Amino acid sequence: MKKKIDEKKWNDILSEISKNITEVSYRTWFSPLTPLEIDEDAQVIYFASSNDFLIDILKNRYISIFEKSVETIYGKKYKVVLKDKTEEEIEDFFKGDKDKKSKKNFITEESELREEYYLNPRYNFDNFIVGANNNYAHAVALAVAESPAVVYNPLFIYGGSGLGKTHLMHAIGHYILQKNPSLKVLYVSSEMFTSELIKALQDKKAGTSKINSFKKKYRSVDVLLIDDIQFIEGKDATEVEFFHTFNTLYEFKKQIVITSDRHPSQLKNLDERLRSRFQWNIVADIQPPDFETRVAILRNKAELENVEIDDDLMDVINLIAEKVKFNIRELESALTRIISYSMVFKQKINIKFARKNLNDIFSTGDFNITCESIKKEVCKKYGIKITDMESSKRKREFSYPRQIAMYICREMTDSSLPKIGKSFGGRDHTTVLHAYDKIASELKTNDSLANDIMQIKNELQ
Ligand code: ADP
Ligand code: MG
Repeated sequence: MKKKIDEKKWNDILSEISKNITEVSYRTWFSPLTPLEIDEDAQVIYFASSNDFLIDILKNRYISIFEKSVETIYGKKYKVVLKDKTEEEIEDFFKGDKDKKSKKNFITEESELREEYYLNPRYNFDNFIVGANNNYAHAVALAVAESPAVVYNPLFIYGGSGLGKTHLMHAIGHYILQKNPSLKVLYVSSEMFTSELIKALQDKKAGTSKINSFKKKYRSVDVLLIDDIQFIEGKDATEVEFFHTFNTLYEFKKQIVITSDRHPSQLKNLDERLRSRFQWNIVADIQPPDFETRVAILRNKAELENVEIDDDLMDVINLIAEKVKFNIRELESALTRIISYSMVFKQKINIKFARKNLNDIFSTGDFNITCESIKKEVCKKYGIKITDMESSKRKREFSYPRQIAMYICREMTDSSLPKIGKSFGGRDHTTVLHAYDKIASELKTNDSLANDIMQIKNELQ
């Protein structure tokens, strides 16, 4: 008998898969899939996509990871079958299921949660490469993970963008939960903390006291991981609320881990009382990695991607490591881009191929790319006005460039999803994520779009 695959199971499978491959591959190849049904008797599980290229890649490269993950989740072996169906056929398949929102929906929600609250399974200690630049931060993070609220409380980690702060923080969370699943570990970006607080305060005005449940939520955890604290600087109400949260947790001997892009003393607009609390215990920095560490990180990524590490690939890794020095996110993204391109163009990775396809990295210069400059460039390209891009107009002539601009913002800036949404006329972050996924999947089959985006990126640089 066949039955539909339930959402929860699919999300579990996705999260299992994401442990074993990189974020880019996960987003590109797995997120767009639709789970169809499972046949218990025949032990077959069916998935569909309207993109035959994607199906090809999955069949050729990822089927064993896929089947292993299904087995882990169901506790039983199934054969994974990928069906090439049109969007309409997929819709038809789900017709009549009242409780089923369109499948796209729940995946978007899931990945949104993943981003803002949940621990990314790939960000663990095993995948964290230790070098001279981060060994202190790594050591104290591990110590905290082993004995939360005993050794170093609070733990404050700071360093530039893309240097592994969020990764370390999630690693602490996983480690603690693995050893003690009953502990309440909460990860939150300070941006989310702020926006949740604002929502709670607004609700209070309307009579319901959401603020109490907000307080309770944050003050009843065993471990609070709060990311990018610099964001609350100068936001008075948030600072006050966080101050009380901090005090309560500290008093009850709960672990607090904080990250920031700066040393606490450099958070000049922050309430002095918070600034001093942040320095009550350990303040650890992360510096940009040296060349050897950069190479080690890239090698590790290549292994995660299951690509063969031969001399040609090592040349490319060395080349990228020479060029990209200050941001590990960019370092990784250069490598994953080359890997994706080599699959798309069915070409072997070597120095020549890398030079051709990573020309942005090799044209040096200090670019300051922001959502604003991206919007401007995209508007120019498609002949629309910035106001139209930021408006709520839904005609394709506006919505398409808008989605492209959102995609590029996510690719080329460090802005968070909510922040990108905000710069597009205050849109929700799920809208940004949807736009990103849509353009990313279209890119794989639409050469003219790929061309447009490449031109825009070149203009920006
Ligand atoms: P930050 O929060 O400091 O901006 P992230 O933690 O988001 O940086 O890291 C950016 C990317 O670089 C992530 O994909 C992360 O896995 C990777 N990364 C950072 N540091 C390391 C490391 N030491 N080893 C392996 N990957 C790393
Ligand atoms: Mg971060």
